[in-house]
Amino acid sequence: MLQVKLIVTGDDFGYCPRRNQGIVDCFLAGAISNVSLLVNGSAATDAAELAQRYNIPIGLHANLSEGSPVCEALKTNSSLLNQDGFFHGKMGFRTALSKGLLNMSEVRQELKAQVELFHELTGHLPPHMDGHQHIHVLPEPGLHKCDWISPSLMEFYLGVEEDSFNTVDVFTSHGIRWPDIYIGLTTMGKNMSVNNIWSAIDSAITEITSKAPSPTDPPPQSRTVTIELMVHPGYPSVPPIGGCGEGPDDFSQSWERLHELQTLINPELQSHYKTRNIQLCSFKDL
Ligand SMILES: [Zn+2]
Repeated sequence: MLQVKLIVTGDDFGYCPRRNQGIVDCFLAGAISNVSLLVNGSAATDAAELAQRYNIPIGLHANLSEGSPVCEALKTNSSLLNQDGFFHGKMGFRTALSKGLLNMSEVRQELKAQVELFHELTGHLPPHMDGHQHIHVLPEPGLHKCDWISPSLMEFYLGVEEDSFNTVDVFTSHGIRWPDIYIGLTTMGKNMSVNNIWSAIDSAITEITSKAPSPTDPPPQSRTVTIELMVHPGYPSVPPIGGCGEGPDDFSQSWERLHELQTLINPELQSHYKTRNIQLCSFKDL
């Protein structure tokens, strides 16, 4: 039987105490296997302590789009900031990037500062790195077939997907690894259900197993496929607590966070994993 390793990553760890609590509850229930830390989140220090206390695999959630930079030199005057002195925002970041308005040495400087702060908070370097609000994501299979996604949201997702294809060469040339398949855009917030997670995982497996094998591939029965599912569980943020410097955003305050938490801890999902020989793991286990 094909072996599937599934990394379920809890996004935005460190955003606020209620997010931290929700993510820890999910981890203890066996519903997530990995977390991504927002080092500029208002509860990042607590999050790092919780990860240590409960032995939760933790990586860096690089953030260049929400809140304030962690690099002191970039906090007052840099191309990464809008006129209010915060990062440009999810859409604003993409616009500034496409117009060539971001100074790439400042981007590198901020990312380096985030890696250093991660090291300071957790005592180790990040075993994996991903991007807040999809500043880096990889193509998602079956995206075009998801009829439950609204047209305007789909336009954003397809933009993300196109950027992702363009990053593959860069990642490869720097020896950066990623899972075979990334899922998360189409199962987010109110769009998450046990069934939608299932159809996303199923089409991912179908897509990868239907590809013509190359001569160097192991035989299908001894093959392992790695899938990352990005999720956003938590108890809704209560302003003014939370966020990355600007207070919590709408998605963080919404019931959709709690909806994700409740879907993920649904025992139906766990028993699906068992019957399909899917093993939850973290990046360290790959
Ligand atoms: Zn995020």
